[in-house]
Amino acid sequence: MTEKRSMLAAVYHGPQDLRVERIPVPQIGPDELLLQVKSASICGTDLRIFHGGHRMFPAGTVRVPGHEVVGVISSLGSEVDGLAIGQTVFIAPNMGCGHCQQCISGNNNRCASYQALGVTIDGGFAEYMRVPAAAIKGGNVMPIKSETVDPAVAALIEPFACVLRGQDVLNIRPGETVLVIGAGPIGIMHAKLAQLRGAGKVLVSETNPERAAQALTLGADRVINPALEDLSAVITEESGGMGVDVIIVAAPAHAAQEAALQYAAIGGRINFFGGLPKDRSSINFDSNLVHYKELLVTATTACSTSDCRRSAQIISTGKVDLSSLISRRFPLTAALPAFAAAEDRKSLKVVLEP
Ligand SMILES: [Zn+2]
Ligand SMILES: [Zn+2]
Repeated sequence: MTEKRSMLAAVYHGPQDLRVERIPVPQIGPDELLLQVKSASICGTDLRIFHGGHRMFPAGTVRVPGHEVVGVISSLGSEVDGLAIGQTVFIAPNMGCGHCQQCISGNNNRCASYQALGVTIDGGFAEYMRVPAAAIKGGNVMPIKSETVDPAVAALIEPFACVLRGQDVLNIRPGETVLVIGAGPIGIMHAKLAQLRGAGKVLVSETNPERAAQALTLGADRVINPALEDLSAVITEESGGMGVDVIIVAAPAHAAQEAALQYAAIGGRINFFGGLPKDRSSINFDSNLVHYKELLVTATTACSTSDCRRSAQIISTGKVDLSSLISRRFPLTAALPAFAAAEDRKSLKVVLEP
């Protein structure tokens, strides 16, 4: 393939200022590769970036976002082995330093000096993306069978890896009752994974009627709209008065985090999966509920490259089908309408296909 000198990209210039423009095709070093992007999905993190609310995008940052990326290797540095031009690959976005305690224990998302494609360096909302040596050496480049897996679905390896990490700490046992609060794409993935883990019943709480309806066809056993129904009463009914064993709060809502402590069964486990707004991150935490019910209250953030490996395995073998989460596809030239669609709460996953 002859390399173009310039390429189309959606570039962040400041809050609400995302511009589709031509920028130079990235140059690669001998230990790097150039990816021709096939599919890059828009996630909540990208919306936070777009609105200027991401801590890695301080004033003055000009950068290409996009961290859920699948593409084809279009050129390869001379020192890279084990990969080939033309291969379809998913790129795990997080790169740790490789030698700190967190990195060597397989938690490179916790590394104090981490880099991430689409977050600290240019990502995949572009025709081409440079994949640095740290990502190649760190095992972030994961070949995908493009004949059997839609690249748009393969791009969901990253968010699904975050969901996997979130449920690892909850240890859902077959037969247990699970409540997922929030039926956005992440909430739906949590419901699907809880079913795969053998949950006896998966309840989903969602106030948006369209999302609530989708959740019922996408993995929930029962969907409750707390604006119309008494969620606490439904939980009592569905759990025989015991409360739910596992609660995942997949909505950035103070009230939902506080209520989770009430809804949990004795010995229940809770994951505060969604972060709260950075300027208002405190909640009323009833410590006695945690004490007397012996609750485990925890949280997870992002995902490691190791989580992405397992996620890639699950998605490429079809153990979990995420194709119904892809609501809309846009060309890169329509990045702005794509961001608007990602925000309208009607769509689940919105994908850019350069
Ligand atoms: Zn994401
Ligand atoms: Zn590290």
